[in-house]
Amino acid sequence: MIGDFAIIPPEEAGAVLTIDLDAYASNWRLLRDRAGGADCAAVVKANAYGIGIEMAVPKLLAAGCRTFYVAHLAEARRVRALTGEAVIYVLNGFLPGTAPVYAAHGLRPVLGSRAEIDEWAGFAAAHPEAPPAAIHIDTGMNRLGLPPEEVEGVARTLPFTPALILTHLASAEDRTDPSNARQLADFTRLRGHFPEIPASFCNSAGTFIESVAAFDQIRAGVALYGANPTPGQPNPMREVVRLEARILQLRDVPDGAAAGYNGKWTARGPRRLATLSIGYADGYLRSASGWDVKAGQGIDAGIALVGGVACPFAGSVSMDLIVIDVTDAPADALARGKTVVMIGDGLSVDEVAARAGTIPYEILTSLGRRYARIYRNA
Ligand SMILES: *Cc1c(COP(=O)(O)O)cnc(C)c1O
Repeated sequence: MIGDFAIIPPEEAGAVLTIDLDAYASNWRLLRDRAGGADCAAVVKANAYGIGIEMAVPKLLAAGCRTFYVAHLAEARRVRALTGEAVIYVLNGFLPGTAPVYAAHGLRPVLGSRAEIDEWAGFAAAHPEAPPAAIHIDTGMNRLGLPPEEVEGVARTLPFTPALILTHLASAEDRTDPSNARQLADFTRLRGHFPEIPASFCNSAGTFIESVAAFDQIRAGVALYGANPTPGQPNPMREVVRLEARILQLRDVPDGAAAGYNGKWTARGPRRLATLSIGYADGYLRSASGWDVKAGQGIDAGIALVGGVACPFAGSVSMDLIVIDVTDAPADALARGKTVVMIGDGLSVDEVAARAGTIPYEILTSLGRRYARIYRNA
């Protein structure tokens, strides 16, 4: 195993995932510099956005990162096993009865409701060695966090001193969205009920909005993994993830031939097709399928780069296979066993996501478990 991934020899694998950990650490340093003097915490929830907690965390520790965020307690225990003194926050608050686990491993819950705060306060009163907690204030998502009208009352009666106050931006990737300024104003006002307590406001994209303050800590996630925190502008981050899939078969089809399940793609003229050993069971989303009706509506479908040429998906993404139209690809790139590029060489996770009708977070966290995984610069 590498982390919790089975080791699969690249020559046996349908697709090979290469993760550049130097690019990952360099992205952390860029975000740290961007944060000015604020602490640059790394968000490593969902197995470090799919790249693997056991490889990601040591690299960031070596780069100087000392604060980590996860979503679940089980993830926090994995991070703790890799780090001595690092600060670890668990974003999903805490489930009833789990406070002793937080204390046993020195993990900090992010408390976001009266009920969580009361249970934690009861535990902390009886266990003076309990780690400090953060308090999450909701400034507009109605998801997690204390509603604004409860903040003053909680602050007045809180029997412990929180380590951190935080909130989360709803639309940071659109810097023109007026909700950013409104959330900033609300947070600035509400954190005033906790004087002297450090505060955290920005995710990756928030860190790149000029008018938004970093406060004492940023919580950097998706940009560490190479996604663009400034959509619509050049990506300042380095590519971390590269995905290559292998060609299983090539065939020439006549005009009007259909490809894949339900014949949702038809050849316009004689075409050359390649069948790739990758599918939705590998996390390559079926929503990227190349269907005639999508083309008719001008909706982009998935592509692969073959010898540098963009080749469109032909038909539905199947569980284990994708067919692409390689008619325009250079002949020397086309042979059984050769690889084509699914992510990388400028085909960014952002573009792959857009072509699947989703966001880069879903592409990263869906990265499959059947890939041969190669970690560069571990
Ligand atoms: C996931 C998450 C982050 C990281 O967000 P990115 O957009 O990936 O940088 C930060 N804060 C909270 C509360 C989160 O849930």
